[in-house]
Amino acid sequence: MLIHSHRLFAEGGAPVRFLQATHQGGTIRPRFLIMHYTAGGSAEATARYFAGSAARASAHLVIGRDGEIIQQVAFDRAAWHAGKSRWAGVTGLNSCSIGIELANWGLLSSGPKGHCSWTGAAVEPERVIFAAHRHTPERQQAWEIFPAPQWQAAVAAAQAIVAVYGIGEAGILGHDDIAPGRKIDPGPGFALDRFRAEVTGRGGDGAEEPEIFTVRSPSGLNLRSGPGLYHPARKLLADGARVQVIERQGQWWLVSEIVDGRADASGYVHSHWLQAG
Ligand SMILES: [Zn+2]
Repeated sequence: MLIHSHRLFAEGGAPVRFLQATHQGGTIRPRFLIMHYTAGGSAEATARYFAGSAARASAHLVIGRDGEIIQQVAFDRAAWHAGKSRWAGVTGLNSCSIGIELANWGLLSSGPKGHCSWTGAAVEPERVIFAAHRHTPERQQAWEIFPAPQWQAAVAAAQAIVAVYGIGEAGILGHDDIAPGRKIDPGPGFALDRFRAEVTGRGGDGAEEPEIFTVRSPSGLNLRSGPGLYHPARKLLADGARVQVIERQGQWWLVSEIVDGRADASGYVHSHWLQAG
């Protein structure tokens, strides 16, 4: 993607849809990129909310689960996304950061009827992972996943942003980094370390190439919704299936199955049944 006059353009040169947010501040020089989730339904609904008069918040970009990107504030203007925040001696990061909102319900509640959002919307089991937020490492909770098209759109947009504004890897942060105790987004469903690595292209030396493993288990390997045998199986990976490692939690690794060269279903597997390469 490209940036021209602080607006985002698709690779082919078409501008990303712009729907102006009501609330924005003055001119900024962005030094940080802050990732959020909306705790909401569609990107369209969030974008319309930011464009309305009731909202007391805004963001530069809203990205849908399908990868659609809507820009709402030019990148050289402050958006109201960070709130009370502090990082590296800086307070009030709205005045020096770009905010990306990802359409995602975030933390879910789990009951006998399954998982649902704070609004009561049902979230299908294949869209749920169990993970502990780093603020509360003792608690495994259910979170909505970020689907591959949304992830790829966020990486592409962030690559353009960090290149144009000179934001380093250490400047890519979660809202939960800059407002701990107040905010938990984007949470453990969003692998921020992997995001930083993909955005900044870290690993020209090969050290950060995607880690590919092959399933070595004649009866297949369960891809589970959380790190442990008590989490339901989402899918049975075939012997010989190839997976990309997203994150390691001890013996349990969060992986995506690779289908036709692209990351597909994700979940947790026991690493004993994986062979490098
Ligand atoms: Zn946030």
